[in-house]
Amino acid sequence: MYKTNAYAAQSETSPLAATTIPRREPTDRDVQIDILFCGICHSDLHSVRNEWKSMAPTVYPIVPGHEIVGRVAKVGSAVTRHKVGDLVGVGCLVDSDHTCPNCRDHLENLCPNQVLTFGSPDRHKTAPVTYGGYSGSVVVDEHFVLRVPTNLDLPGVAPLLCAGITTYSPLRRWGVTKGKKVGVMGLGGLGHMGVKFAHAFGAHTTVFTTSPGKAEDARRLGADAVIVSKDANAMQKAASTFDFLLDTIAADHDVNAYLNLLKHDGTLCLVGAPQKPIPVAAFTLLMGRRNLCGSNIGGIAETQEMLDFCGANNITADVEVIPMQQVNEAYERLVKSDVKYRFAIDMGSLKSA
Ligand code: NAP
Ligand code: ZN
Repeated sequence: MYKTNAYAAQSETSPLAATTIPRREPTDRDVQIDILFCGICHSDLHSVRNEWKSMAPTVYPIVPGHEIVGRVAKVGSAVTRHKVGDLVGVGCLVDSDHTCPNCRDHLENLCPNQVLTFGSPDRHKTAPVTYGGYSGSVVVDEHFVLRVPTNLDLPGVAPLLCAGITTYSPLRRWGVTKGKKVGVMGLGGLGHMGVKFAHAFGAHTTVFTTSPGKAEDARRLGADAVIVSKDANAMQKAASTFDFLLDTIAADHDVNAYLNLLKHDGTLCLVGAPQKPIPVAAFTLLMGRRNLCGSNIGGIAETQEMLDFCGANNITADVEVIPMQQVNEAYERLVKSDVKYRFAIDMGSLKSA
């Protein structure tokens, strides 16, 4: 076991603060990674503040962070996929059972025995739960370590490991391509990646935002149209015209107003995970024969496919790079939808903490 610097929250009301955490010595199958950048996902904030307590209560202390990019520092003797010095990424998963039907289908993201990068019981017993990427170093089974294309801007790569795959996967799964009319709801970390991918896949892409000030950016990111969702007229005009809507909204909202925008057989896919259950009007679904579904990150093979696609098409997240010491201010801004469009923590700042 060795120690590394990290930031942790001790309770749902305490800020993140400097600490040290234990990491295991790499086993035969493990990769030890020096973390360079870690994105700040809204899920980090939901978890730190215990906003999902009814579904997944937070175990404290929590070290969040599942958008990790770093360099391989050490590998176990049986590791074949990575070598010392490689640029690599780690997303939301660090283990699964490898044997269930979903794992056999390369859907570790749907494995009932998956181990999350932070907050899951630690099978190696290094600590009570796994600790995430707001830290200097991490040790991960090689199966869950992704290859990072070397041509990409590193801080902007970190968010691909969660925001990237969480939007890429459903857009692929539900056939978003040229000729499809697609809407992305919410222009935050996930939403801005959704716009980049939908545009790259050739779809006609509309952003639905509560922030009129983001309209210009939305177009720069690849949107063909922008609708301010509080504009009832514009929403009415767009009724029954969309093939697919990707809902990335992190807070309570009326999903029926958006379901109404779908053509018959159109699909609204939830990736946003607000605290409270979402009321759905049966008539909105059945009168249009509309579909409502959800999607959770993506499997490891698809995450690698997404990273390779980003490398080939020069796609990264738009990031505001911050030192670790500014993480609590960043959380306050995230709650106000005030980030363009993802915070990435520079872990170099942690060494001097
Ligand atoms: P984020 O950066 O905060 O973006 C969320 C966006 O939602 C905001 O930028 C804002 O966009 C919009 N929004 C916020 N409050 C709203 C409201 N009251 N009504 C309508 N729109 C509102 O968050 P994120 O990191 O992208 O994460 C989004 C959600 O996805 C979170 O709940 C997170 O936990 C979840 N998530 C799920 C998965 C998964 O696998 N399914 C993976 C990662 C994250 P505008 O300013 O444009 O309105
Ligand atoms: Zn995330």
